[in-house]
Amino acid sequence: MSGPRVVRAPRGTGLSTPGWPQEAALRMLQNNLDPEVAEHPDRLVVYGGTGKAARDWRSFDAMVRTLRTLKQDETMLVQSGRPVGVMQTHEWAPRVLIANSNLVGDWANWEEFRRLEALGLTMYGQMTAGSWIYIGTQGILQGTYETFAAVAAKKFGGTLAGTITLTAGLGGMGGAQPLAVTMNDGVAICVDCDPRAIDRRIAHRYLDVRADSLDHALRLATEARDARRPLSIGLLGNAAEVLPQLLALGAPVDIVTDQTSAHDPLAYLPAGIAFEDMADAAAKDPAGFTARARRSMARHVEAMVGFMDAGAEVFDYGNSIRGEAELAGYDRAFAFPGFVPAYIRPLFCEGRGPFRWAALSGDPADIAKTDRAVLELFPENESLARWIRLAGERVHFQGLPARICWLGYGERDKAGERFNEMVASGELYAPVVIGRDHLDCGSVASPYRETEAMLDGSDAIADWPLLNAMVNVASGASWVSVHHGGGVGMGRSLHAGQVTVADGTRLAGEKIRRVLTNDPGMGVIRHVDAGYDIADSVASERGVRVPMREG
Ligand code: NAD
Repeated sequence: MSGPRVVRAPRGTGLSTPGWPQEAALRMLQNNLDPEVAEHPDRLVVYGGTGKAARDWRSFDAMVRTLRTLKQDETMLVQSGRPVGVMQTHEWAPRVLIANSNLVGDWANWEEFRRLEALGLTMYGQMTAGSWIYIGTQGILQGTYETFAAVAAKKFGGTLAGTITLTAGLGGMGGAQPLAVTMNDGVAICVDCDPRAIDRRIAHRYLDVRADSLDHALRLATEARDARRPLSIGLLGNAAEVLPQLLALGAPVDIVTDQTSAHDPLAYLPAGIAFEDMADAAAKDPAGFTARARRSMARHVEAMVGFMDAGAEVFDYGNSIRGEAELAGYDRAFAFPGFVPAYIRPLFCEGRGPFRWAALSGDPADIAKTDRAVLELFPENESLARWIRLAGERVHFQGLPARICWLGYGERDKAGERFNEMVASGELYAPVVIGRDHLDCGSVASPYRETEAMLDGSDAIADWPLLNAMVNVASGASWVSVHHGGGVGMGRSLHAGQVTVADGTRLAGEKIRRVLTNDPGMGVIRHVDAGYDIADSVASERGVRVPMREG
């Protein structure tokens, strides 16, 4: 009997494909499933509940095989994690085009999705799982760091020192929360029902300590808060039980949010079910489990609203928990805002978002060099400098070494072109891939998250992510994806992603310049169209053409 399959991307400069764009797609697919990166690689699950990199192992093998022979003028088509065709295109075309989890509007719900998934016809691609640019928890760390910095700026005089944040969910994304809070000098209590999630975050140095009990957690938290010492505390338990208990105790909590997998009711542990029985219970009676999970989410959200009423800063962290609680009949679920309208939208107006890159060499020194290049390119940006310094010190790489930082329109192309020059000159040992989260300024329609409460009411307009994917294809990205349901679940989002390879060639430089200008440009025009003044000024100052503003 052989054990579970272990996948890991090759490192170095040797190619097993006809060119770097194909090699990059292959390595990033493999990297997504690296046990250091993926939450459940044996099931091809990368993160975010059931977000997968490939539909099944046969599809994975077929994609690997196809990429190994894919020519410079060919494109592999991927339909929900399965390669379905290879077409002759041209060298400016993407080498891979991906469509994941898309369903026709009236059919776009979990029930129908799961029926089709059980028939082997689709898979859940989340955002970067099925588009092969997940880089582990760091990917979300910077966005989470930015969000908590914005909370600090808005409410606490620019620092979280002397405050306690209460949250739940220490999974692939949620695991970034404790480190993001301590990087802002605050104290965090993080509840998770899975002891392995707590252990994993401690092992990766994202979480400092584990509390033995609720009282212990509160004692550790208040001591650290009083000393204005950053500390993150893992607490084993069910958030639907622990939050109401803490509220009843009058726990001195300043900020409350949540990143359990609430977007998928089968991945949220209902109160009264032991964690060990969760998978069986969900498989045996999905409808009953869903109803119980939603009732628990209603209790969880009710406690969050209770903390808000008591004066805490409370926000939804993009996991749909308010929507699920409302479905269970809790009528104040939307009493607190989502994090995008509360803190992030002004950044989106500037085309700012989660720019990321990974070193195909596997050599951390390549990332250190790109870190320095970013600091040299944008010396005036102090918060970027602080982030790059802290990330260099505190971020533990998972899989291929990678870095993320939020850059805006007019910045991403500069960084990308600089990286390409560094590959060309041999300063970097091997090419780098440059991509981003689908959670970006102009790439997603998601009324409970990125496009919640748009100024012109256009929250549910989903033309923008489709235009974003098309413009990235037209601009020369190496692979482009269009997904449905990432982050917030089926029926609630459409979003697109791109990855572009800097292999040091002139052609790559040309593509990078276009893609990394037009991709964030979508964020600027989307927000100009919705009537945001900041976006309007950015468009004027930086020369983004918007026909309706001309003439
Ligand atoms: P994940 O599945 O890797 O982790 C979820 C964690 O929640 C698990 O560790 C699980 O044990 C825990 N959990 C489930 N039910 C619980 C309960 N009742 N009490 C306590 N813990 C419980 O998911 P992830 O990748 O960390 O993503 C978490 C959520 O955040 C998802 O809904 C995702 O879509 C959303 N998300 C938000 C952003 C953002 O920018 N805000 C980005 C990505 C993902």
